[in-house]
Amino acid sequence: MSVQVVAAKMAEVELKDVPTGKDLPAESPVTPTSEGKNLPRNDPHEAGSAAAASPTAEPSAKAGEGGTGLLTPNPAKMPQASSMKRSDPQQNGGEAFVNRDGTVAEAPRMKKIQFADQKQEFNKRPSKIGRRSLSRSISQSSTDSYSSAASYTDSSDDETSPRDKQQKNSKGNGDFCIKNIKQADFGRREIEIAEQEMPALMALRKRAQGEKPLAGAKIVGCTHITAQTAVLMETLSALGAQCRWAACNIYSTQNEVAAALAEGGFSVFAWKGESEDDFWWCIDRCVNVEGWQPNMILDDGGDLTHWIYKKYPSMFKKIKGIVEESVTGVHRLYQLSKAGKLCVPAMNVNDSVTKQKFDNLYCCRESILDGLKRTTDVMFGGKQVVVCGYGEVGKGCCAALKAMGSIVYVTEIDPICALQACMDGFRLVKLTEVIRQVDIVITCTGNKNVVVRENLDRMKNGCIVCNMGHSNTEIDVGRLLNLSCSTVPTFVLSITATTQALALIELYNAPEGRYKQDVYLLPKKMDEYVASLHLPTFDAHLTELSDEQAKYLGLNKNGPFKPNYYRY
Ligand code: NAD
Repeated sequence: MSVQVVAAKMAEVELKDVPTGKDLPAESPVTPTSEGKNLPRNDPHEAGSAAAASPTAEPSAKAGEGGTGLLTPNPAKMPQASSMKRSDPQQNGGEAFVNRDGTVAEAPRMKKIQFADQKQEFNKRPSKIGRRSLSRSISQSSTDSYSSAASYTDSSDDETSPRDKQQKNSKGNGDFCIKNIKQADFGRREIEIAEQEMPALMALRKRAQGEKPLAGAKIVGCTHITAQTAVLMETLSALGAQCRWAACNIYSTQNEVAAALAEGGFSVFAWKGESEDDFWWCIDRCVNVEGWQPNMILDDGGDLTHWIYKKYPSMFKKIKGIVEESVTGVHRLYQLSKAGKLCVPAMNVNDSVTKQKFDNLYCCRESILDGLKRTTDVMFGGKQVVVCGYGEVGKGCCAALKAMGSIVYVTEIDPICALQACMDGFRLVKLTEVIRQVDIVITCTGNKNVVVRENLDRMKNGCIVCNMGHSNTEIDVGRLLNLSCSTVPTFVLSITATTQALALIELYNAPEGRYKQDVYLLPKKMDEYVASLHLPTFDAHLTELSDEQAKYLGLNKNGPFKPNYYRY
């Protein structure tokens, strides 16, 4: 019997109104009060959100053209974040309070941080996937799970570790460690394609021609190194920042993009197929450098933050803030905050509405099919699929599979999400009820031990098992599918990357005292603004509230249009 574990590692706009952070306080901090569980140490193999470039269409309209109601918030008029109560997204029932002025209670003192280490044996071995070479991979025919289509120029031809090579870019700069600098031209083409689908970042960049809101910022980053990240990094640089970057995932780096960045003068330390030791070495090379000390952190998963806490805690004296985008990383920040160990302000980008909806729901709706197709060539029509978890990611996967004619079952622990699944026309079952009959099992819970050995033993021959949720904890073998086996849409990443850039600008420019050592959300108005920057691509025309209507609803005509507790 064989079970295929598809695991993977598997407008231009009105620039004058882009908020700069000088005048724009973020949503007040969220301070969970419920008991947190021990988090697994973040796994460098976890893929949280990014991927490779995808072919794009030209934006069909520019802001201002026909879009009568596009948001152009004036920071000076931005309202203060209002008082709200909110649950920590990771903690059941955890309540949080915020103050009107964006402050929190006590500034916690810095203490030694300890992360729970739940390293699992299988972390070290890449699992095998597909039975054939990846259909869209240009140079690969390996069936190793990490030889995905995400990097078209993955060089199995050169087995020398980048750590053993001395490379220099055309200007003689060698402060980087990547697979092959000669791939830079190809990487540049991919970055140029990505730029076309990232209208808001390009708009921010134009603004930089005037002012440099990140002048003096020294950003150390740890994210997926893809064409989309490159657009973000080059935007940050255009806004005045210096950047050093490592990969947050050992498999997701696009080598050619890393080469293009190195050729462009960025200090990048990443390649596809790093070992665990390489992973931490790369992070260390970003941080531990003579004559350069970061003052901002952009993290995806919390590993970089963890490394600095562990190895260079004194660096936090100069760090103005952390911007974190992943569920896992944010969860850790809340835990640090709750324990009084967070020593700088942090922005939770993950829970920005724009990030969560688009990255988790729409992104997975598109990439689940792509990842499965590229690795297995499976036909979806008529296949029986069980999706574990009906949150944002699960909803996206179910919608895509249903549209392809699959028979979709859902498992859930939460009665609200379970009822949603029922209302959306899915059969709610326990995994054990359908495990013998399904053709595909997909996990999207963010939980652990969702599919265990016992389930694997009962599956039918050829059943495909894949993880769209967290890292490698959901299935006894397995890693994230879409980020390792395929790509995700650039446009979605544009939304996240713009939110990250705005969060960096805000934290970097915030006057002393605006933020304490706590975890903050960007204000809803900022979310609305990021969304508005992406509407021109669709030639979408937003309706503007009349004065009467605004009064009737009790809203400002320029937003925010929904209360903080609105669920979309
Ligand atoms: P979510 O909290 O909205 O949804 C998770 C759902 O799983 C919840 O409804 C929860 O009740 C349910 N659940 C938990 N344990 C379960 C179990 N044992 N059996 C069945 N259901 C269970 O979270 P989300 O936004 O959907 O994200 C889920 C995971 O996907 C997270 O780990 C996130 O980091 C990851 N993610 C992956 C991608 C990707 O590109 N692959 C993108 C975004 C997020």
